[in-house]
Amino acid sequence: MKEARGVEGVEVVDGMDSVEGGVGLTALLVAAARAIETHRHDTLARDVYAEHFVLAAPACADWPVRIHQVPDGDANPLWGRFARYFGLRTRVLDDFVLRSVHTGGARQVVLLGAGLDTRAYRLAWPPGCVVFEIDREGVLAFKHRVLDGLSAAPKAARVPVPVDLRADWVGALADAGFDPAAPSVWLAEGLLFYLPPDAETFLIDTVDRLSRPGSALAFEVKLEKDLLEYRDSPLYTSTARQIGIDLLRLFDRGTRPDSAGDLVAKGWSTSIHTPFDFTRHHGRGPLPEPNDALAGNRWVFANKPRP
Ligand code: SAM
Repeated sequence: MKEARGVEGVEVVDGMDSVEGGVGLTALLVAAARAIETHRHDTLARDVYAEHFVLAAPACADWPVRIHQVPDGDANPLWGRFARYFGLRTRVLDDFVLRSVHTGGARQVVLLGAGLDTRAYRLAWPPGCVVFEIDREGVLAFKHRVLDGLSAAPKAARVPVPVDLRADWVGALADAGFDPAAPSVWLAEGLLFYLPPDAETFLIDTVDRLSRPGSALAFEVKLEKDLLEYRDSPLYTSTARQIGIDLLRLFDRGTRPDSAGDLVAKGWSTSIHTPFDFTRHHGRGPLPEPNDALAGNRWVFANKPRP
């Protein structure tokens, strides 16, 4: 059981710190999707570590790590279309973060809700990069166990920051060595809709406060006013039925802040895309369909301009 001080002084008390319970399990869902993507003949993103997380967790003993292990293959809403969605998201954010460090010059990367993201191990980082990984302790401990077992070596300095993002996490990041005087790149991939609205506002305000000009941030939001609008969609129902993850129960259902708008008000430039924009760009990935749980998903790319 973890206890911490929440962003508004509310105590965060949560027994679901592990990767195999509550929202932690969603990190394994994304890892399984990346494993499947990795072995597609037309892969968008390769993550050779992803399948090892799935194989190491008893909670997903019967999950596939190759599309041929799925009886209905790509027609399966979860392991076909939804997994491809995660593959596309991985690729797009890989491209964003690499562009930001190589052409933008930032050398600090912060993965918010890092889960089983292995970018520190996979990507070609320029010399001097440090990757901070923020997630809850149980999730990061599982990740280390698996990666240590593989003798995996990161390609950048990697600093785990075990902290709950519903608490005030700034001190933990500072203690880990983050330098607000240097430009930074931030990713919140598949995270914000699990956080209470005030924790999202705190996160955006904090990223702005800790980002000097030249910094960049990418994050994902869901625009629908009522998340239950798509409760009967094939993505949600198949995820619940096949692997017991009820995403709508894990999402925070509070009224969302306008984080992209808030960043613009703070002087950042933003561009907002649907995932389908990138499907068309890459020539593969999910396209819109009726009763689509992805219809409201937007990927926001933000830059804090230099004077
Ligand atoms: N960003 C990773 C990726 O795309 O592979 C993980 C995405 S997973 C869907 C969501 C992650 O957010 C999980 O690893 C979960 O533990 C983390 N998370 C959710 N709520 C959190 C919180 N309050 N504090 C820290 N991490 C949190």
